[in-house]
Amino acid sequence: MIEDKNQQRTPLSELGEFGLIDHLTKHFEVKHKSTIKGIGDDAAVLDFKSKQIVLTTDMLVENVHFDLSYMPLKHLGYKSVMVNLSDVYAMNANATQITVSIAVSNRFPVEALEELYSGIQTAAAVYGVDVIGGDTTSSTTGLIISVTAVGEVATDDVVYRSGAKPNDLLVVTGDLGGAYMGLQVLEREKEVFKVNPQNQPDLDMYTYIIERQLKPEARKDIVKLLKDLEVKPTSMIDISDGLSSEIIHLCKHSDVGVELYENKIPLDPQVISTCEEFDIDSTTVALNGGEDYELLMTISQDDYPKIKANPNLSVIGFITEKSSGMHLVTRAEAKIPIVAKGWNALNNQE
Ligand code: ADP
Ligand code: MG
Repeated sequence: MIEDKNQQRTPLSELGEFGLIDHLTKHFEVKHKSTIKGIGDDAAVLDFKSKQIVLTTDMLVENVHFDLSYMPLKHLGYKSVMVNLSDVYAMNANATQITVSIAVSNRFPVEALEELYSGIQTAAAVYGVDVIGGDTTSSTTGLIISVTAVGEVATDDVVYRSGAKPNDLLVVTGDLGGAYMGLQVLEREKEVFKVNPQNQPDLDMYTYIIERQLKPEARKDIVKLLKDLEVKPTSMIDISDGLSSEIIHLCKHSDVGVELYENKIPLDPQVISTCEEFDIDSTTVALNGGEDYELLMTISQDDYPKIKANPNLSVIGFITEKSSGMHLVTRAEAKIPIVAKGWNALNNQE
């Protein structure tokens, strides 16, 4: 489906492991003062003075987490950085460094890895993180990418999943369900392409949701926004698996219950129209679709005046005593229990 514009195919063996590492990493520049030594020694050296350090890692496996028939390698590189930075921002921290480890089979030419690394480099530049190392090895099957991200945060600013209190407001950034509906469109086009490779899909009416799937953005801006507004959330988590499962995580870790209002869940018009086209319920998609990489947080009611006018933040419910349970209040004002499905449930992969 995605045309390979780069016709040159240099086999990996031509460069060898060290030549390849050098080739892929030579353009990376170190920007943070905390990076004492980046790529090039046995280990990187970092110095964070009195800050606390957050560290997180995520692995992406071909045909489990991504499908190269519609995921351009450049986007894959970008996204693999985003999924990690999102976890750093969910701690209310500032991302500073990443390492990137890849396992590749020799079906990938050097040019393919250049594409992957151009996406990684773009992400690192846009989000201001130093690439300080990684590992390169061979794989007999698909492509595997593992990114580790490091961030820094003042001790008093760290936000855990565990701090939500009854009466706190439940707040979400951006809008939900876009990445999942983008995936549905891409999967459908893939099937069409299999039958008729000459078919040029017209995806104009899906640009937002496809971008949400192929080029998600981590919410670095929210960490800054919260600081500017002088709001410290009582708890926070990033939405990688879908709203319902993240709400359950927050409630379990905080020992509280929740009431979530269906009519408050933010949805983009393209999500609503595509849900209608696919005959899927948009609330189900917001609750169980994954990969939106928005932030879900709880804030004290006292902070409500500071956030209420902000278009990036939607109040979608409030925290209750644990004994009240976790409920979705529907548009028809019925109360139904929130259950974890994660996004696999929608794909029937469980
Ligand atoms: P070692 O044998 O000590 O593991 P390597 O030869 O694997 O060293 O790596 C040499 C340097 O290149 C190290 O700084 C390592 O972190 C970095 N590096 C290796 N692979 C990658 C990669 N895929 N992306 C970024 N840096 C890498
Ligand atoms: Mg190594």
